[in-house]
Amino acid sequence: MEMKEFYDYEGEISKLSNAVSLLEWDMRTKIPPKGVKDRAEVIGKLSRMIFEMSTAPKMAEFVEYFNRPRIYDSLSDVDRREVDLASKHYRRQKSIPPDKIEKFSIICSKGESIWQEARAESNFAKFQPVLEEIVEYLKEFTELYGYEENRYDALLEGYEPSTTTNDIKKIVDGLKTDLVPFIKKISQAKVPNDAILNGNFDKSLQEKLSIEVLKAMTYDLDGGRLDETAHPFTIGIGPGDVRVTTKYDPKNLKPSFFGTMHEGGHALYEQGISKEYRRTMVGTAASMGIHESQSRTWENMIGRSRAFWKFFYPKLVEIFPQYADIPVEDFYKAINVVRPSLIRIEADEVTYNLHIILRFEIEEAIINDRVKVADLPELWNSKIKEYLGMEPSNDAEGVLQDVHWAGGQMGYFPSYMLGNLYAAQFFARARKEIPDLDERIASGDLKTFREWQREKIHRHGSLYDPKDLVMKVTGEPLNHKYFMDYITEKFSDVYGI
Ligand code: ZN
Repeated sequence: MEMKEFYDYEGEISKLSNAVSLLEWDMRTKIPPKGVKDRAEVIGKLSRMIFEMSTAPKMAEFVEYFNRPRIYDSLSDVDRREVDLASKHYRRQKSIPPDKIEKFSIICSKGESIWQEARAESNFAKFQPVLEEIVEYLKEFTELYGYEENRYDALLEGYEPSTTTNDIKKIVDGLKTDLVPFIKKISQAKVPNDAILNGNFDKSLQEKLSIEVLKAMTYDLDGGRLDETAHPFTIGIGPGDVRVTTKYDPKNLKPSFFGTMHEGGHALYEQGISKEYRRTMVGTAASMGIHESQSRTWENMIGRSRAFWKFFYPKLVEIFPQYADIPVEDFYKAINVVRPSLIRIEADEVTYNLHIILRFEIEEAIINDRVKVADLPELWNSKIKEYLGMEPSNDAEGVLQDVHWAGGQMGYFPSYMLGNLYAAQFFARARKEIPDLDERIASGDLKTFREWQREKIHRHGSLYDPKDLVMKVTGEPLNHKYFMDYITEKFSDVYGI
């Protein structure tokens, strides 16, 4: 058997996945309402075909053959990595009987619609029974997947390979200790005026601005496009087709502008993966956390920096002349206002991680039977009070705010925090290696940094585990100090504290 045969087989699966991605993109951007139900069935059918091919005897044969020591040792580094990734994926998929997966996915779609009603009514009791069912399934899955120390490890593995609950706990402990007092300090300082971000902003002009910034970021528009959606996302539809989406708020520029930069950061990653890995598992992103680090870098470290606006403000003024009389420094401070919020998706970059820490702690306790689903609202409210000093007035702005649990996604949230932390550590390294990085950004040269990211991170795809990648790029394991240094320096200046 040759590796080529194996790659060809994976290539067939990848083509089907591309078809699903295109159908999903369409379902979230263009589809008329009456087409949704049937489309979901088409996606369901194709997804089953993908699952069947990924768990077929043919795949078992490949996994068995290429893992034979004599064969495995004779492979190149990249081929060996491909075999490792494919074997892991195969075992994970095989560990849960298909009828259980099917039942679980039915419960999750039921969960999502019940969650929607429960949130609208702010009624946790309505959501509780289906969430209990979902949690029981997830606990059972962790046993089937297997884990070494903590049940939660088995869930994390699906989003952040090789990162354990213990790794996250260590990071969370350090981060909480440093972050909570810093937020207290900021909340006592005078808040910059961010009312200047409100106004009337024509949608087509916002779109023009979004395209302008994507171009500045060196996003390849011949290999992608920008469309409008309700919940922005980036999707790779195949080699040469990586699409971004954004949403427009006619009264405020922030959602579309920073949303576009965020998604653009994800897209640069996908566009930058080496073409030689096309249609392989190595040719996919290293993890959700690494993916998120690329988007957060562009959204926050570049998009909310003084250097960037030195170059980009005139472009904004050209499209929205109402800013002509507002000094760029005022604008810079306005986009960096820190305002603790009960709602995660409205959180600024300083308080965001606390929202994630809260969710991680709750999920880990639930999966390990230390907390009952019925006790969630109370636990949620006491934690948010401890971390942000705020109390939800109802469950809709507390425990019911995210769709993730309703969709069966536990273990996902930590990637958001890891993304912020990886981003700060990578960016600190880039600063060291490109000493005039700020000057370059201020002059509109974003390509030098993009090239650095591509060389160090993007092109490798999944060639390295996230932990190894961080080590390789920065010379040390993930350390939350880089994030703390970054926000302390930036926000002490913005807030004059
Ligand atoms: Zn993202």
